[in-house]
Amino acid sequence: MSKHQFQTEVNQLLHLIIHSLYSNKEIFLRELVSNASDALDKLKFLTYTDEKLRGISFDPRVDISFNEEEKTLTIADTGIGMDDQDLVENLGTIARSGTRSFIEALKGENKGDINMIGQFGVGFYSAFMVADRVRVVSRKAGEDTAWVWESEGKGEYGIEKGERDSQGTTVTIHLNDDGKEFAARWAIERVIKKYSNHIPFPIYLHFDEVKYDGEGKERTQTRERKTEKINDATALWRRPKTELKDEDYREFYRVISHDDEAPILHVHTQAEGTMDYTTLFYVPGKAPFDLYLSDFRSGVKLYVKRVFITDDDRDLLPTYLRFVRGIIDSEDLPLNVSREILQQNRVLAKIKAASVKKILAELQKLAGDAGKYADFYREFGKPIKEGLYQDYENRETLLELVRFKSTATQKSEFASLAEYKGRMKPDQKAIYYVTGESEDTLRQSPLLEMYRDKDVEVLIMDDEIDEIVIPSVGVYSELEFKSVNRSNSADELKTEKDRESEKELDPFIAKLKEILKDRVKDVKASTRLSDSPSCIVVDQDDPTVKMQSMLKAMGKFDFGEIKPVLEINPRHEIIRRLQKIEDQSLLEDASVILLEQAMLIEGIKIDNPATFVQRLNRLMEKAL
Ligand code: ADP
Ligand code: MG
Repeated sequence: MSKHQFQTEVNQLLHLIIHSLYSNKEIFLRELVSNASDALDKLKFLTYTDEKLRGISFDPRVDISFNEEEKTLTIADTGIGMDDQDLVENLGTIARSGTRSFIEALKGENKGDINMIGQFGVGFYSAFMVADRVRVVSRKAGEDTAWVWESEGKGEYGIEKGERDSQGTTVTIHLNDDGKEFAARWAIERVIKKYSNHIPFPIYLHFDEVKYDGEGKERTQTRERKTEKINDATALWRRPKTELKDEDYREFYRVISHDDEAPILHVHTQAEGTMDYTTLFYVPGKAPFDLYLSDFRSGVKLYVKRVFITDDDRDLLPTYLRFVRGIIDSEDLPLNVSREILQQNRVLAKIKAASVKKILAELQKLAGDAGKYADFYREFGKPIKEGLYQDYENRETLLELVRFKSTATQKSEFASLAEYKGRMKPDQKAIYYVTGESEDTLRQSPLLEMYRDKDVEVLIMDDEIDEIVIPSVGVYSELEFKSVNRSNSADELKTEKDRESEKELDPFIAKLKEILKDRVKDVKASTRLSDSPSCIVVDQDDPTVKMQSMLKAMGKFDFGEIKPVLEINPRHEIIRRLQKIEDQSLLEDASVILLEQAMLIEGIKIDNPATFVQRLNRLMEKAL
């Protein structure tokens, strides 16, 4: 056997690989299977393009076997193979640059992140994580001689002539203590299923099935050699769409999502041209349990040329689409791109942008069926609303996709903004909405009285996220969103007569302001009310009551106390009579009650219920 020295970089790399402990050492199998698959791909191509190889018998496959006693694992392929010179070049030197940076990365901050190894074109050496010795027997397609390459990964390797029946490569790993667990049927199957299930070539596992016959002393043991295909061998998403039935899509969804329920929809895109990629996305029927957890798992797997890269990248789609399940398979990315590279990768950024548009377009189609869309929206409405402030580029589409409860719909039913626009009064210039704790209280809120009287629709927003999203959006189709919870919001709906009657209240308002000066920011007359004597709103730029309690609960902001604006109804009987009251203590009781009852309706706790009740009782005494 002729001895050869590894190139310096290879030596350094091997030293790191052999002497560090890696958590995901199983990836060595992914790397070797991926090499086998590459070799099959290369030969496959040559059987189409190379005259000499056109006629050879080619049964593309990967065969994995193991020996538990001897602690060996063997991966064999029928691919392109290597001659002695190829072995020296490929498994002794590193042609590509970047090895140095990989070595630095292994030593440096990403200590232990062996996962990136393939990206640097040195995946083969990962075998030394689990090996005392690696033996490669290879025969190049079209040649008669086979060659052996053998090494313990310590400075040198040997090469000699060998035997192999046909073209291809056999890699035998003599497993070390860290790797001996891989000389087992289930361990191999698990890793292959995890990383290489959709390699488009069959992977066969050879194993002994042990059978027992008879009882007691008569008991005999027989071993039978078995072979089983352990991967799908077809990348479903690569098959022509016309070949795939709904059931196929459904089955594949089950595999990638572990969800037995039917998905709401799937979108399958096979793009060719300036960029070659395939995407297959699913919208699940039910929200995943971790939808609102900060450490939610990504539902999208990335493949490069059918080789699984990662299922742990949460940036493959924008966060608001985190409920989507599926795959992205790119032809244009290098195998095993690292996380850092993924984030800045322009190819991936383009695929991502196109994918978002596709998914949103599909949801728009779904919206054509109001019933189905409502089912979708009940599960995923919140994340879609998050999109309004996360995804500026698709805001127009997202505005068509969001739904809100409304004074024009039945309880719990949704309205779209387009429907709202269609129902608007001819001179109406804004979209009105009210925010608060629950749909029920909001539907009865005094804030809505004037809108009801004038038959103006108000969107009912009882979802926490609405408070953040709607102000950030500002307009829909040139219509401004206006919060009914704010003072002045109803100004443009008022008639001249309304304004006059508000004005008449000025002297009385001065008195109220004096009495309530510590508790309110302002007192205003407001014709927005009809049945109720008073209501509270927030000043134009203050956070709404709901927003204040949300932010307080998050423990992030402390505004100090934000005082509400009290609005009183000039046409209400109580207000009319109250203006004539001379008795100062009676006026005081009534004024405070006007404020506190308005707070109660808004779901705000009053600081001192006992005083409230005392005042109420004093008033009742007078009335009875
Ligand atoms: P990469 O696969 O990124 O090129 P590897 O370290 O995994 O890097 O492999 C190095 C090279 O060794 C490959 O490019 C290929 O030329 C050769 N090689 C490895 N395994 C095989 C195999 N099973 N059949 C043919 N060539 C192989
Ligand atoms: Mg490789």
